[in-house]
Amino acid sequence: MKKIIIIHTGGTISMKEDKSSGEVSTSTEHPLSNSASIFNHDAHIEEDFLFNLPSPQITPAHMLELGRRIHDKLAAGNFDGVVVTHGTDTLEETAYFLDLFLQTRKPVVVTGAMRSSNEIGSDGLYNLISAVRVANTDEAQDKGVLVVMNDEIHTAKNVTKTSTSNVATFQSPQYGPIGIITKQEILFHQKLIAYESYPIQQLNKNVALVKAYAGMESNFIRAIHNAGIDGLVIEALGQGNLPEGIIPALQEMIDDNIPIILVSRCYQGIVQATYTYEGGGRQLKNMGLIFANGLTGPKARIKLMVVLELTNKLTELSPMFE
Ligand code: ASP
Repeated sequence: MKKIIIIHTGGTISMKEDKSSGEVSTSTEHPLSNSASIFNHDAHIEEDFLFNLPSPQITPAHMLELGRRIHDKLAAGNFDGVVVTHGTDTLEETAYFLDLFLQTRKPVVVTGAMRSSNEIGSDGLYNLISAVRVANTDEAQDKGVLVVMNDEIHTAKNVTKTSTSNVATFQSPQYGPIGIITKQEILFHQKLIAYESYPIQQLNKNVALVKAYAGMESNFIRAIHNAGIDGLVIEALGQGNLPEGIIPALQEMIDDNIPIILVSRCYQGIVQATYTYEGGGRQLKNMGLIFANGLTGPKARIKLMVVLELTNKLTELSPMFE
């Protein structure tokens, strides 16, 4: 029988609803503690209660601590797979950080819940059991960090929370899930073609994320620059274009050797240097902005934080985002 470790970090999956007011809050004792063992007899399960945080309170420091905990558990505990429970608000950022940080072939599966443990139709226990089933599967090896929610298996790289409250919130808009979970089977039908990992010791870089909008001007970008950042991610317009009003401020950042990563505020498609007008992608690329292929803004930020621990040279950073 395989050994699976569940590492709890908090989130709605660890919370309870007050039946009279409808308010949802953290509880001192995890409401699903031991339930994975009770409902799944196919794996030997151990649990570790690392944090009890709503995920808006998760910081990069927590992500690194979690990454180290998984590394240590896999190294010392003879575990075959890992399940992480996490709040759904920042789940995709933590999952992608783990994907970039960990160097393991073993399944690492992140899950959460949209409805707290005692709400009608709660998805917490169901998702937890599904995640354990996936982590207990040979086919889940060598697939990077996975996110399991609502009978679907997604890659940490492509998944995003799409609805504020629907239990079918986690989707991979461009590529779809890489597998599905049925009552009897775990079925994979896709695999990423490349994996990357970066052995970093710290996660301290200050990277800002902004969304472009019509009429955006340089003073806003200068305020961010003056705040003292190590890097900037911009969710650009369409294929990777920006209002011409911010070009002078972007040039000042580039002159200061601050890397700027460009993604799109569209939720599908990739950015590319197509247009030659002022603020068009061609000009931005020629200035030295780095086009990130297919990442969302929050994930490009996590990746820039990670790779800035290794280098801040534009020529070295650029190929890492292709
Ligand atoms: N606000 C909650 C959190 O991320 C949402 C959830 O877990 O579903 O902690």
